[in-house]
Amino acid sequence: MTNPSYLMRAYARQPVSFTRGSGARLWDQQGVEYLDAIAGVAVTSLGHANTEIAQVIAEQASTLLHTSNVFRIDWQEQLGERLCALTGMEKAFFCNSGAEANEAALKLARLYGHRKQVAQPQILVMENAFHGRTIATLTATDNPAKQQGFEPLLPGFLRVPFNDIDAVRRVAEQSPDIVAVLIEPVQGEGGIRVADAAYLQALRTLCDQQGWLLMLDEIQCGMGRTGAWFAHQHTGIVPDVMTVAKALGNGFPIGACLARGEVADLLSPGQHGTTFGGNPLACRVGCTVLDIMARDDLPKRAATLGDRLLSGLRDALSGHPEVVTIRGLGLMVGIELNRDCKELVGRALNEQHLLITVTRNSTIRLLPALICDDAQIDDIVARVAALLSPEAPTYPGTAALAEHMEPTT
Ligand SMILES: *Cc1c(COP(=O)(O)O)cnc(C)c1O
Repeated sequence: MTNPSYLMRAYARQPVSFTRGSGARLWDQQGVEYLDAIAGVAVTSLGHANTEIAQVIAEQASTLLHTSNVFRIDWQEQLGERLCALTGMEKAFFCNSGAEANEAALKLARLYGHRKQVAQPQILVMENAFHGRTIATLTATDNPAKQQGFEPLLPGFLRVPFNDIDAVRRVAEQSPDIVAVLIEPVQGEGGIRVADAAYLQALRTLCDQQGWLLMLDEIQCGMGRTGAWFAHQHTGIVPDVMTVAKALGNGFPIGACLARGEVADLLSPGQHGTTFGGNPLACRVGCTVLDIMARDDLPKRAATLGDRLLSGLRDALSGHPEVVTIRGLGLMVGIELNRDCKELVGRALNEQHLLITVTRNSTIRLLPALICDDAQIDDIVARVAALLSPEAPTYPGTAALAEHMEPTT
């Protein structure tokens, strides 16, 4: 048994360690099987231990891992072209994570502002937003618990309520220095909140009128998860800047900031960069993820499975006294309870052998892999219903769960 006390306590970890996975299933050190309804928080959309991804990683690792962005990288050029073809964007910058992708977007917005002679460019962000943990993306995030202790946060951000176009119009009148809007089409950490199509369309129009960049954070809701390749494609709008990460590598770290129009050509050599970002291995994995998603029509599959999950939950939990709403789009589903329910994460593991997360203290969040079969979706519904039922049948708990229990915060 290894020792967790050598790790900084950045997480309130569950006392379980998984040693292998397959598709939507995981096994712990005792060989106990679990059903994964979060896919590493919207990352392993093609399932754990995907054999095609594993093979490509092995092949590329024994061919060429890394050179440098000093040189051309064919896999990076290919992935850039393919992401642009899927989105209507024109150019890509590759990095290693979601936060880094958003950092690139925020830097582009400031460059764009300075290009327009705005000395103190402001970026409009949303209430309930999550954009990452670097200082700039933490500033863009709306979560006092995550921000506290890290002040001073950065200037240059204005916040408005999510899904409220009048609030944006009001701020626009008072703030001539706004240059961009950054928004998640479906807020993930914010509790699975879906922006209305009419709102995003009105935001697009307002951005055009004001000369603002519309920057979409599709890090969690992109890559097929909501039933379209990217969530904004349900609405017909096209952003100026879009960020992607999480499922793009199916667990291999990669992020991308995509842009079109004037902003796609803003960066000149030396203004931004990364050592690891866009290396041949990461980009080849990204290309393979796109291949598999296209071949197996996984965005469409996510729509079908998402409907099944949502209607299954609504049936199973109808009239439940604690359930306030069940909402979602595709395979992003939130079940909001009328109480704090963070303890359900541990109880789901122990009692139902089910991986879930809880966001904003009171919303159960489900983000299953896009390769789940119907029976696994039904199984998720059954286990969530059992978890929330007072006389739930429980799966036998695992012996090791009590060991190395870390204090939860
Ligand atoms: C996860 C996430 C991020 C941050 O990505 P990291 O890879 O953890 O840096 C940013 N925005 C959204 C919407 C996310 O879900």
